[in-house]
Amino acid sequence: MGFTDTLTGNLAFHVGDDPQSVTAARTGLDAHLTELAGAAAPVRLQYMDQVHGREVAVMVDTSAAHHAHESVPTADGMVSSSASLAVMVADCVPLVFVGTTAQGDAVLGVAHAGRPGVEAGVVAATVAELRQAGAVSLQAWLGPSVCGRCYEVPEAMRTEVAAGTPAAYSTTSWGTPALDLPAAVVSQLDDLGVPVNDLGVCTLEHPEFFSHRRAVRDHETEGRFVGFAARAHPDHQPALPVR
Ligand SMILES: [Zn+2]
Repeated sequence: MGFTDTLTGNLAFHVGDDPQSVTAARTGLDAHLTELAGAAAPVRLQYMDQVHGREVAVMVDTSAAHHAHESVPTADGMVSSSASLAVMVADCVPLVFVGTTAQGDAVLGVAHAGRPGVEAGVVAATVAELRQAGAVSLQAWLGPSVCGRCYEVPEAMRTEVAAGTPAAYSTTSWGTPALDLPAAVVSQLDDLGVPVNDLGVCTLEHPEFFSHRRAVRDHETEGRFVGFAARAHPDHQPALPVR
């Protein structure tokens, strides 16, 4: 599992980028992961059409059988016992889950937790589907996202979100109301009993990651990076770069 950065390029079709360059970036990432993982079958990341909700799609890898009919679920979480998964972000919290069943099989998951998703419970919904899929041991990685010192919101929004998840309450470094979404997600995962590795990287402060807020502020080109969980060949010990 891991997280890409701007060197991989923009991986989203919905931000006005040239579709051919998005396809090239996605194909390049798949090829890179296939090489790293030593997969017998090529890695082909499954993306989703993210809508800031709490729907979780359970995915079955049909890429070998149905190349022409790739289906992209409308969801903000995915779980799979066979497919490799990706979640696109640029300030929202990307979560990658790796679980193991009692039989020792891997169950993978991703979730997109922006402010609406944190309020709607997309983290709990994704964890519930992972456990439904048989994950008895489970851990999460929380990737680059806008931090609680940078994510300014109106006072009323801070009050509303913190009423549901108190850890979300924050103040910007310049003293105005803010939300700490990474802290909120960590607190939700704690409540669910899922250990989390928080990378602690702020997208707004680190230009090597796409940030929607920085793009608007500085009139930069929009882009999205991904958190991913990919399947390696069982005989191969993968050495994926994680940052
Ligand atoms: Zn920050």
